[in-house]
Amino acid sequence: METELKMTTVTEWRGYKTRPFLIAGPCSAETEEQVMETARQLASMKEVCVFRAGIWKPRTRPNSFEGIGSEGLKWLRRVKQETGLMVGTEVANEKHVYEALKYGIDMLWIGARTSVNPFTVQEISNALNGVDVMVLVKNPINPDLELWIGAIERIAKAGITRLGAIHRGFSAFEKTVYRNQPNWQLPIEIRRRIPDLPIICDPSHISGAREYLYEISQKAMDLNFDGLMIESHIDPDKALSDSAQQLTPNDLRELLSRLILRSPVPADPRLLDILGELRQQINIYDDALIEILEKRMKVAETIGKYKKENNITILQPTRWDEIIKKVMISGQSKGLSKELIDTVFKAIHQESINHQMKVMNIGLETHNGK
Ligand code: PEP
Ligand code: MN
Repeated sequence: METELKMTTVTEWRGYKTRPFLIAGPCSAETEEQVMETARQLASMKEVCVFRAGIWKPRTRPNSFEGIGSEGLKWLRRVKQETGLMVGTEVANEKHVYEALKYGIDMLWIGARTSVNPFTVQEISNALNGVDVMVLVKNPINPDLELWIGAIERIAKAGITRLGAIHRGFSAFEKTVYRNQPNWQLPIEIRRRIPDLPIICDPSHISGAREYLYEISQKAMDLNFDGLMIESHIDPDKALSDSAQQLTPNDLRELLSRLILRSPVPADPRLLDILGELRQQINIYDDALIEILEKRMKVAETIGKYKKENNITILQPTRWDEIIKKVMISGQSKGLSKELIDTVFKAIHQESINHQMKVMNIGLETHNGK
């Protein structure tokens, strides 16, 4: 059963600042000077709400910089005192939580390599019980929505109400343009399932390269995400971690100036009527799609009966190859993307197979791996 979550909105967190709720700062706290100078420059920008810096760094391979440790918490406390910015860092176990709270850290985030592990998230939740601090839960490295929501629920159970999700992309086996796959449908589904949960996009860890930060940030804003977490360092090329994706505070300022912030509701109410009519058309097409799918499955079932009577296999690779090639050509000629045709027709083909499996093996349950 789903836990009921009680949350405050991001508008309450950011006080007088405007959308997006912006978290900025270096991947890692390296030296007191680097932290203070980056923070001073970021504090001069009206958009920055929280200064971030990793103190304990989860690195993929050993022998790389694994963070300055608790020493850096003093620097974050200084940032808070001298600039008035809220400060945030990553916690990966209960010791980190106690240490960070001791130094008055305002915002804790749970990293992608931690939210993947329910034992650790529970340990963190226990350490947070009854504490009033802002906590953001990054998506786990694998695209597992339930695991992400489960981690959020565990933290909510500690009584945390300034609670949010960070979308930082998902690991992929193949080399892709971005360092991590955005899989936008996951944060979109979180929005559908938990509409009040603030969602922050982390374009730095999605992109892995500064050249893509703008396009990902703009997309997140167009999907009505509440905020952005962007890594910023006074001298990115010399950064001890995530050097290729960090921006100078000046470049961050320039990126923000180019962001177009669109409103979720139209200023002109007449537009709602126009949209309403167009949405009616969409509903009609969606109903038609469902009806056609139903008819297609009925035909597939009839084919399944013949296959059963004649003892032939369900999968007919030549026929499947013929279908996918044909729809690829006709779909693309009608302006549909390869990805859409591929995803939709593979799903339809799989559904036909499932229907035929049922016809063929009445009485024998098949679970389709689910
Ligand atoms: C980070 O924010 O610096 C970090 C380590 O992120 P992630 O957990 O998303 O890899
Ligand atoms: Mn980083």
